Amino acid sequence: MEENVKKIVQMRMEKTKKALESNNMQVFIADTKEQVPEIVKTLISKDELIGSGGSVSLKEAGVIDMLKNEGYNFLDRADFTAENIKDFYIKCFSTDTYFTSANAITENGELYNVDGNSNRIAAIAFGPESVIVVAGYNKIVKNLDDAVKRVKTIAAPANTVRLSCDTFCHEKGECAALAGNCDGITSGCKSDGRICCNFLVSAQQRHKNRIKVILVAESLGY
Ligand code: SF4
Repeated sequence: MEENVKKIVQMRMEKTKKALESNNMQVFIADTKEQVPEIVKTLISKDELIGSGGSVSLKEAGVIDMLKNEGYNFLDRADFTAENIKDFYIKCFSTDTYFTSANAITENGELYNVDGNSNRIAAIAFGPESVIVVAGYNKIVKNLDDAVKRVKTIAAPANTVRLSCDTFCHEKGECAALAGNCDGITSGCKSDGRICCNFLVSAQQRHKNRIKVILVAESLGY
């Protein structure tokens, strides 16, 4: 990364960190994704129950491999089938620590997440004692308007390809709402495979530091 770009990345991350902290979230900054597992290890213990939402960022940062291979009491989604996956979702609500990423994080200190199944946003909002969000610099946006746009133009199209969902954005690379000039956060396609069903903005938290955010100065996930 060029020095000038690096400086801008650091400034935006510091600004976002301060705003998240003022909303009662604890924030850690990692210069590289390799630093993430070491930060995570200071926040969890091997005798606690740990769960996670589906996340490319967690995989890319090595968090999932660490939880699976280093003796943690990790509820692994891969151990569940289509028939009993609901048991996994319910168990995740009573975990000590729940891992996820975010679809966008604003410089104003908000987390923005959109879900189809909605197990992930439900656990972010309530249940697990602690929630650890791992997010690359690419997830930082100026405000909620840009967060909404980010999901409709980047996160949702990429996730519908990853999850093989038959949606407009899978085919066209952007939300049907943008192509149809429809306004509003919730506007979109009418597909059965739609992944934008529930919309969560996490602002000032009542339970201080329940949500911890690890901001990484590299691109992770989408
Ligand atoms: S509402 Fe439909 S088309 Fe729009 S981003 Fe979501 S899944 Fe894609």
